Amino acid sequence: MDYISTRGYKKVSGSRAILEGIAKDGGLYVPSVIPNLSSEDLEILYDLDYPERVAFILNKYIPEFSEEKLLEYANLAYGRFDGDPCPVVKIDDETYILELTHGPTLAFKDMALTLLPYLMKEAKSVNNEKRDTHILVATSGDTGKAALEGFRDVEGTKITVFYPQDGVSSMQKKQMLTQEGENVNVVGINGNFDDAQTAVKQIFANNKGNDKETLSSANSINWGRLVPQIVYYISAYCDLISSEQIKSGEEINFVVPTGNFGNVLAAFYAKKMGLPIKKLIVASNKNNVLTDFFVDGIYDINREFYKTISPSMDILISSNLERLLYEMMGRDSSKLCLLMDELKKYGKYSVDKESFSGVDCFKAYFADEEETMYAIDNFFEMFDYLLDPHTGVAVDCYYKYIQETDDNTKTVIVSTANPFKFSEDVLFALDQKKAEDAFSAAKKLASFTGIEIPKEISRLKTLAERFSTVIEKNEIEDFKI
Ligand SMILES: *Cc1c(COP(=O)(O)O)cnc(C)c1O
Repeated sequence: MDYISTRGYKKVSGSRAILEGIAKDGGLYVPSVIPNLSSEDLEILYDLDYPERVAFILNKYIPEFSEEKLLEYANLAYGRFDGDPCPVVKIDDETYILELTHGPTLAFKDMALTLLPYLMKEAKSVNNEKRDTHILVATSGDTGKAALEGFRDVEGTKITVFYPQDGVSSMQKKQMLTQEGENVNVVGINGNFDDAQTAVKQIFANNKGNDKETLSSANSINWGRLVPQIVYYISAYCDLISSEQIKSGEEINFVVPTGNFGNVLAAFYAKKMGLPIKKLIVASNKNNVLTDFFVDGIYDINREFYKTISPSMDILISSNLERLLYEMMGRDSSKLCLLMDELKKYGKYSVDKESFSGVDCFKAYFADEEETMYAIDNFFEMFDYLLDPHTGVAVDCYYKYIQETDDNTKTVIVSTANPFKFSEDVLFALDQKKAEDAFSAAKKLASFTGIEIPKEISRLKTLAERFSTVIEKNEIEDFKI
């Protein structure tokens, strides 16, 4: 199975795509054919546990990695989770929540970043790559911590994370600054996520590696980050069948809180494989550049950037949209390159109506801050279920979708973070109360809801901060990594 760059670069194997992270021409790697998921495959998958499902599906995408090896790695990665890595929780007869928040850093990024170090290790071994790998990460809050935790003290790797100094929650910041491990570095920038991501992409474009180390990415521009995310959509479907919530072949919807367009794109690949998905609801916060794109075909980043209570979605340049655009352009790299040039030059491009015909499964909505807080409060009152602000955005968008369409198809809302990572804002949404700091907010939130503070959060209080470097955004490219 070959991988091709969206911008036309020559074919590489899946393992090379993972090692390189981003293609030499600045494009993103995509599989040359999207593997098929037959109904027989689904029958097999129903009876498997999560690591076995991971091994089965990843082997279709990266056949160079044997199913046995993949299973060994998946068991190690998902063994770090607290119980079932991705349970589906029933809310009412039509609504379910897929909880992707049970990993070591309490965000959905763990679903891929616990496994990625093993995929890299295997990719190095298959390619006889002896040099060290230096992982560069731009983060809007959760990827940084999950990647640090995944790669910490992994032999032959080191990792540097760039995060927007004023653009993450206090708990997210605390999680990163207290990171343990000998091969880790965390750098604040005076800028936003888009600045960090653009600079990191530029470093990849300029750097040819040297005889001691090569660079790679743990952001969702790396195929190795995206492919494990396809699995939980398929797994959720299997679980709904096994628990007799749906019948075999019945279509369902997914609602996905979206920033860099990685998570919802993985759902799109699952649909392309053959999973019975009707609609994919793209949920954005006030930074609603994607909502506008799906409504009128114009992608325009010349707009105000808002800092919101769902900081991991505060993004205007959604990198993975490039992979969807590539499909929309009929896999024509030259057409795609024209759009990317326009984006670089004018911060804007537009796509005609016909190009959307193959991707009409997408519906897009956004929630502003008030609506997000209302969703958190209301959902807790109605269902005694506590949402984090990102999942709150998703819930609001789901209700907008139902109101507009009257669709009563069973729908799975993807939950992407534990609410205690955003204790201050969640507390405020429920109780209109402010707390002195993140830890006292967590305590108040626990007593208000009767939900225990996760140990990964309470433990942070006892850890010393290890990193204090802050640089300007124009210094990232020259930063001595
Ligand atoms: C990263 C993140 C998102 C956005 O996911 P994308 O793959 O970037 O679209 C949403 N919610 C949370 C909590 C996240 O950490």
